[in-house]
Amino acid sequence: MSFRPGALEGARTSPTGGRVEYRLARNAVVSEFRKGRLSKLDVCDAHSELMRAAEHLGSPEREPCPICEEEGGLVTVTFVFGARLPSGGRCVTSQAELDRYRRRKDPVVCYVIEVCARCRWNHLLRMYPSGAGVEGAGRPATGRRAVARKA
Ligand SMILES: [Zn+2]
Repeated sequence: MSFRPGALEGARTSPTGGRVEYRLARNAVVSEFRKGRLSKLDVCDAHSELMRAAEHLGSPEREPCPICEEEGGLVTVTFVFGARLPSGGRCVTSQAELDRYRRRKDPVVCYVIEVCARCRWNHLLRMYPSGAGVEGAGRPATGRRAVARKA
């Protein structure tokens, strides 16, 4: 059990910039699984495209997977949706690419998804707007700085 409630509070309190956190929903699923109300089949259903993205483009998370509890399997992947992007979204491969989207004139929406490369657990963590002059939402690891700023 590695989830830290402190991290949750920090993420939840700011509605700035249209960012939406899904940590609570994610934790609810994890807790249902731990109580035995959801099976591994229910929660570990990442499709192969997501698994490929996780394997090649995911950024590693420090905490172990909440489902299989293995260390080193958990990653986050970011998909970007917007005009002139594929309808299924584009998987962001680097921070530099994420910065490019942020500087774009067209608005985009970024979805950050947690995936376990070992057991196929996956859940949406957050979504946030970027591009079109939207500032400061794009850094999953250091997002706390950005939250203080008014969009
Ligand atoms: Zn796992």
